Amino acid sequence: MTIGEQTIGECDFCYKQGVVVKKLYDNYGEWIMNRCDHGCDKNNHYDSEPDDLFEIISINKLSEIPFYESLWDVRISFDKNEDNVRAIALTRYAGEQEDSLRSDIMACRNRNEIQKLNKTIMQY
Ligand SMILES: [Zn+2]
Repeated sequence: MTIGEQTIGECDFCYKQGVVVKKLYDNYGEWIMNRCDHGCDKNNHYDSEPDDLFEIISINKLSEIPFYESLWDVRISFDKNEDNVRAIALTRYAGEQEDSLRSDIMACRNRNEIQKLNKTIMQY
């Protein structure tokens, strides 16, 4: 993999938009994805967003491909409103457990941070 020039775009690791990213190329020189140039954690694009008041309703594993990835269906209610429930599909590494995913979700401040729990699985 080669790291190319800087540009403004969307990061394929944390899904932030309008941030400074570096283009990543595969060994054949094909552009494959962008990554935050200053690191996904340091580029606090969402810091101005308010915290969400949320509660986990359910966490269900939909499928798992051994040694590769697991797919989860997470239902979360926002603002203590039973009518405001969102289904969020999250891709995690294989072997993820409900407990560890739950604690990762509880550590999030808002729905954008929950979305960022998606793991990007690299394919070679
Ligand atoms: Zn990023």
